[in-house]
Amino acid sequence: MAELKVVVAGAGGRMGAAIIRAITQTAGLALHAALDRPGSAALAQDAGLFAGLGALHVAITEDIDAALAGADIVIDFTAPEASVALAAKAAARGLVHIIGTTGCSEADDAAIAASARAGACIVKSGNFSMGMVVLANLVEKAAAALADYDIEILEMHHNRKVDAPSGSALLLGEAAAKGREISLKTHSVRVRDGHTGPREAGSIGFATLRGGTVVGDHSVILAGPGERIELGHRAEDRSIFASGAARAALWASQQPPGLYSMVDVLGLND
Ligand code: NAP
Repeated sequence: MAELKVVVAGAGGRMGAAIIRAITQTAGLALHAALDRPGSAALAQDAGLFAGLGALHVAITEDIDAALAGADIVIDFTAPEASVALAAKAAARGLVHIIGTTGCSEADDAAIAASARAGACIVKSGNFSMGMVVLANLVEKAAAALADYDIEILEMHHNRKVDAPSGSALLLGEAAAKGREISLKTHSVRVRDGHTGPREAGSIGFATLRGGTVVGDHSVILAGPGERIELGHRAEDRSIFASGAARAALWASQQPPGLYSMVDVLGLND
């Protein structure tokens, strides 16, 4: 079987490097091109050397159209505006687009969904690790079973992260809201400061910590009368997200255009 040709967007980033390493370890995938933004210090460098591997003879470029020519798949952990623009290009070319970028606004998500309807096969997730998909499933069940317990979601990430709450925290919030059959948008409390008054019953609270080199820690606390349940996940290495994205890429290459999640990739939708 011919290898699928993958473009890595954000090749100069932390996740970009992890994804380049994952591609070289995944049968059926080959690095086709490596993209980064205009002005990036990574431009013109060999993507393999940049990722701590041997030379792969693929220079990191800012030329999106040249990178996408002849490609099958884009794996994209960049920034919302870049992911929205790449989704439109993926739709025009009928490509698979794996999006790990977090911090997307409602308008960004709507634009990405429109690109999926226009011909791109998109898998988007706030967390591509297998453990987080399972945790979200447990949170949904716990939130339904303990219907009157207060739900709080605590996350910590490294000091370079630019968006909050994390995409994974929001994914866990969505799972809790699904279990409660409520909308996260109308029930979430994302920041508390000053004289907030008592906790609103039925709300889902978020708390964000930033510091050091933490790859990603998440806890979901269900607090009831006289007891607390804590469900958590600790990411120790970015390779868990990168291998999940590679797995999603292989899966998506067999699917019709549309917008999918890791729940679809793992077949847990039933
Ligand atoms: P990072 O190290 O800052 O890497 C982001 C890369 O994207 C950088 O190379 C950056 O270039 C590039 N970039 C930024 N804006 C761009 C644009 N407009 N066009 C093209 N490239 C652009 O960050 P990271 O830690 O790898 O994380 C990247 C994204 O993935 C974040 O949204 C993060 O939250 C998310 N993430 C998701 C998961 C998941 O499983 N879904 C896991 C981890 C991280 P410069 O450095 O030159 O600005």
